[in-house]
Amino acid sequence: MQRYLSSLIILVLGVYLLGFHAFAVDDNQYTAITGGMLIDGYETPPIHNATVLIKGNIIIDAGPAHTIEIPEGTTLIDARGKTVLPGLIDLHMHLDLIGHGDYDEYYSYIKGTERLAEIMPIAAKQMLRAGITSAVDLGSPLSILDIKEAINKGNILGPRLSVSGPWITRIKLGGVPDSYQIVIDSPKQAAKQAQYLIDQGVDVIKLWLGLTLEDYKAVVKVAHQNNIKVHAHLYKVDAIRNALKAKIDVLQHVGSAKMPPYPEDLLHQIAESRTPVIQTIAHRIWVYPATLSNPGRLDTPQMQSDMPADLYQELQRSFTHFHRLGYFHDTPDEIRNAKINAKQFINSNAYIGVGTDAASPLNFHSDAIWREMSALVDSGMTESRVITAATKTNAEILGKGDQLGTVEAGKLADIIIVDGNPLFDINMLKYVDTVIKNGEVQVFE
Ligand SMILES: [Zn+2]
Repeated sequence: MQRYLSSLIILVLGVYLLGFHAFAVDDNQYTAITGGMLIDGYETPPIHNATVLIKGNIIIDAGPAHTIEIPEGTTLIDARGKTVLPGLIDLHMHLDLIGHGDYDEYYSYIKGTERLAEIMPIAAKQMLRAGITSAVDLGSPLSILDIKEAINKGNILGPRLSVSGPWITRIKLGGVPDSYQIVIDSPKQAAKQAQYLIDQGVDVIKLWLGLTLEDYKAVVKVAHQNNIKVHAHLYKVDAIRNALKAKIDVLQHVGSAKMPPYPEDLLHQIAESRTPVIQTIAHRIWVYPATLSNPGRLDTPQMQSDMPADLYQELQRSFTHFHRLGYFHDTPDEIRNAKINAKQFINSNAYIGVGTDAASPLNFHSDAIWREMSALVDSGMTESRVITAATKTNAEILGKGDQLGTVEAGKLADIIIVDGNPLFDINMLKYVDTVIKNGEVQVFE
């Protein structure tokens, strides 16, 4: 009986962890993706004419076509001429945002948090359609937990979410509703609030501004006791040094050129400690000049059909004279800094993941991920390295490297098919043809 009970608990736990409950995928149905070029996530040359065999929501095999037998009755997906790769992971995004030009005006237009239940599913759909099958939200009211559950149940389209809920900070951010932030004034408070968030069910903790070394340590202690990772919003050298001392798990934003280049010893320490770095370099520095050169990207039929007419019109209004928006005030300087800054972590061979900070102004969920990956290639990463960063490495940073991030036997079937060769031109990642999440081909109307 004892043995039966413990196997039952393991089974239930396994079902829960792997998300079998999430979708109506037939566990015995085989699906095979055939004929495509497979990038499996390992930063190795691709496999041509590959077969990926899926049973239910699990990848059974992936390799050259001649090595894999396809069972009778298998559903076939023809990927000839296309590239097959792991679903992309965005390690820094905001599901409450849709790219509006000004945060204050946006929150005032949507009346604080009143329309989030309407907006978050729009953002979630845009991300999934862009090939993002998992994502981390770093800053929202706790109501995001309901959206996460609705996605898990298959009620709305979206990536697998990990969420921080409200960030912990010593400096209150004006213009953002109170439910986005928890303001603390001592390490003890910081620890207490971190425990509160964990008890509410968040997946990660986000630390924001003005926090001391002792605050960092207090939160890290509580988080690690609960097996939760701590992400910190960091730009300044001293704050990064404190984060390293406190063993913060993920360094967010460093490298996005808000600051002049970083000292060599700091870069060395980050690389040596293998502390994950999410640079978020594209959100101002690449997105802004791309928009200057083609303002047409701000108004597309897809964007119009993605949202209610009033929101679409409000977005368009917010883009008027976008070069004068406060958000881009320092961007010309940042672009000059970026020539060195964005390369620094890449050249120091830091442990680099990928995050977009979407949907910050003009940085839409629909294209933020390929723009960030493209910016990383511009800054010195090979196409193969950046694809691995956005898939295998990101899954490891999430703590889900055993389930996600590569196309190989035993992993969950989160796979995208792209119409083109992103190893030749990373921008081909904008042409996502098919998204498979949890073994199921996603249908976008
Ligand atoms: Zn952010």
